[in-house]
Amino acid sequence: MTTATLNLKTLEQIDVKGKRVLMRVDYNVPLDGERVTDDTRVRETLPTLKALIAQGCRIVLIAHLGRPKGKVNPKYSLKPAAGALEKLLGRPVKFASDCVGPVADAAVKALGPGEVLLLENLRFHPEEEANDAAFAKALASHGEVFVQEAFGALHRAHASTAAAAELLPGAIGGLVARELEFLGKVAERPEHPYIAVLGGAKVSDKLIVTQKLLEKVDALLIGGGMAYTFLKAQGIGIGKSLLEAERIDDARRILDEARKRGVELLLPADHVAAAEFKADSPASVTPAQEVPEGLMGLDIGPRTRTLFAERIKKAKTVFWNGPMGVFEMPAFAAGSKSVAEALAAATAGGAVTVVGGGDSLAVLAQTGLGPKMSHCSTGGGASLELLEGKLLPGLKALSR
Ligand code: AMP
Repeated sequence: MTTATLNLKTLEQIDVKGKRVLMRVDYNVPLDGERVTDDTRVRETLPTLKALIAQGCRIVLIAHLGRPKGKVNPKYSLKPAAGALEKLLGRPVKFASDCVGPVADAAVKALGPGEVLLLENLRFHPEEEANDAAFAKALASHGEVFVQEAFGALHRAHASTAAAAELLPGAIGGLVARELEFLGKVAERPEHPYIAVLGGAKVSDKLIVTQKLLEKVDALLIGGGMAYTFLKAQGIGIGKSLLEAERIDDARRILDEARKRGVELLLPADHVAAAEFKADSPASVTPAQEVPEGLMGLDIGPRTRTLFAERIKKAKTVFWNGPMGVFEMPAFAAGSKSVAEALAAATAGGAVTVVGGGDSLAVLAQTGLGPKMSHCSTGGGASLELLEGKLLPGLKALSR
């Protein structure tokens, strides 16, 4: 079984009229004390919520926030998310201080048609991450149908995504459907030329997806900290740059595989380097592919930016995950910005552009280029696992 062969229903394909709907959402929002500092994840659920309200559903929302490790911890309460939702929805949102047990049961029972209830953090119970059957049964008792709208949690086999989803008639919500449509396009039916751009700190996180991508892409562009292990594998000096010594053999294998398959694998041809990992460490552009002794590469250089942009602009499909440099520091942000601009130009020229991963999305937020992409994937881990060809537990549980 693969994700492509699953038998998933969309919300429009199931009967929800007047029913109690248990909906798993991703309200893992950033907080400053009790204030939600970015309500994007809550805002994104509005269309599905409004559609359910219009059908007179009683809506029970379940979600997690942070890593409270199975213990009640007020720091990770979802109460602020309920407040944010109430403001965005323009109608009252009820909140219960537990997701199972008498408090939750009473709150669910008291719900009227078109009313919305958010239950407290699932991860206050260790049974959630253990995918516990009794806990899942208690969650499932809150609904007559299950709607999965938390794309970023689909790669986890937790009670709220796996065991509970199996117990009810279920469907994927609009957000998940959109993610699958775009990621499905790049994973299974990419139009060529197809180019993948990978960056970020570590080779180890992206090893499997890099191998999988080689089977599909016409060119693979690698930047960011992970590029230095690949340069090292080719015997090129990398100075003090980030290195995963235990991944050098893997990098060499990937380089060989790319050569065998005729896939162009582009690494940085020059760098913006500095002596220290600091925002104010004097930065200079290296004259060549080598990083001089005593310096570390912290961004791709101007020649690389042009090289990468030229390839990206010619593509019909582009997938991008991971920044090209330490974009959090202005002196090392130009590489990621230029990749974002090249993707925007590709989208304008008719290409399908898909961006995944929290840091790449932060680059888009920084540059304001998010709306210029065909699709920004909210789930970094889930999107990589889909591209790796893995069957996501949260989807398998909904296949009938
Ligand atoms: P990841 O979580 O693997 O996607 O890595 C993202 C992080 O990689 C960001 O915080 C970047 O600052 C960091 N990063 C990108 N390029 C480099 C580099 N050349 N050296 C060190 N860190 C980098």
